[in-house]
Amino acid sequence: MGTYNSTTTTARCPRCSRTAEFDVYLYFGNTTRMTHVSIGEPYPFFDRRAPQNGGPIPTDLLGEGYSVCPHCGKDFFCGALVEDGRLVRVLPVTTQLPYDPDTETCDEMKCPSCGATDGTRLQIFSGYERSRFDCSACNSFGEVKASSEGILSSVLQPLRVLHGR
Ligand SMILES: [Zn+2]
Ligand SMILES: [Zn+2]
Repeated sequence: MGTYNSTTTTARCPRCSRTAEFDVYLYFGNTTRMTHVSIGEPYPFFDRRAPQNGGPIPTDLLGEGYSVCPHCGKDFFCGALVEDGRLVRVLPVTTQLPYDPDTETCDEMKCPSCGATDGTRLQIFSGYERSRFDCSACNSFGEVKASSEGILSSVLQPLRVLHGR
């Protein structure tokens, strides 16, 4: 899906902690017209469709947003709250890992799945609870909790093709 709506919001960057005005890309609802929606304005949805197909999202779900900080240039995901059909609030979320890591270590961490060290890659995101790990020896990847001593816990899964936007 190459279309999105957008909004502008002031928030604290989860990557560098500076407050900035962010342009946020919104990947939910009716994005066919690439609408810029200000906070407080009605948000476009397709009527009578499921949330994952562009229909209205319930208030206990957040719509997916994505932004890049104008200060540090790092990316992060956002959650958008819609109430009574209006875009109420857009906030950074640190439960979904960004694409661009702060640091990356290769061939240093032992794979919790196959035990190999060569071919492993750990991507660390400051301020985020989890790190991203992949192992080219056993083709697994996933999100892990890691410290300098090693990987503490992991939810690894077999490598699959991720559909980018
Ligand atoms: Zn930043
Ligand atoms: Zn492995």
